[in-house]
Amino acid sequence: MKNIIFIAPPAAGKGTQSNLLKDKYGYVHISTGDMLREIVSSDSELGKVVKNIIDKGNLVSDDLIFKLLKSKLNSIKGKPFILDGFPRTLNQALFLDNDLKIDNYIVIYLDLSKEDAIKRIDGRLTCSCGKSYNLNDINLKPKIIDICDNCGNVLVKRNDDNLEAFKIRFDVFLNNNKPLIDYYKNKNKLKVVNVNKGVNEIFNEISKVVAND
Ligand code: AMP
Repeated sequence: MKNIIFIAPPAAGKGTQSNLLKDKYGYVHISTGDMLREIVSSDSELGKVVKNIIDKGNLVSDDLIFKLLKSKLNSIKGKPFILDGFPRTLNQALFLDNDLKIDNYIVIYLDLSKEDAIKRIDGRLTCSCGKSYNLNDINLKPKIIDICDNCGNVLVKRNDDNLEAFKIRFDVFLNNNKPLIDYYKNKNKLKVVNVNKGVNEIFNEISKVVAND
């Protein structure tokens, strides 16, 4: 089974799709955003620095991200994994290939316009267990209002899911995306999935991509 790398603008649903793939195929889901939010919740000095960066919509330093990723990959001992939120830049992609020497992967690009991403951000709620919901999507609403279907915790709106931070996150994505996409296109690793449709349809399409590779 090949590893999966998701490249996507904010709110394209990479977390939701990663969780579905994890349940169906048993991948380890590695979300750099979740790892960083865990550091933020520890309330340490580093947590405060990271919170400040995330809340503004900017990228955390490669040094920290590389350290977190390396240690996570070591801990999963060769199990197939999904990278959700990494790489975000060409430099991060080069780290994966050249420093970590990982090349058994496919890259799935979840394609979504800025306008559609804004609509999704508006209704998004998340749980500390990593599950995401969307009040504007009938398939992604929690069964009980504001409560996680998975673990019963109270759902919250992410601090960076506001219009101001969202615009910065989307622009950061646009600035970094072309070199990243070109890099993976040239390596013949890139599959594009349009995500302007329901969560189950997207998942079926991704499952076909995964099964055919
Ligand atoms: P996400 O949960 O993937 O939307 O990530 C939330 C935030 O965490 C991003 O807006 C960045 O501030 C930070 N972050 C996550 N992954 C990375 C990464 N690979 N490189 C730098 N910053 C990241």
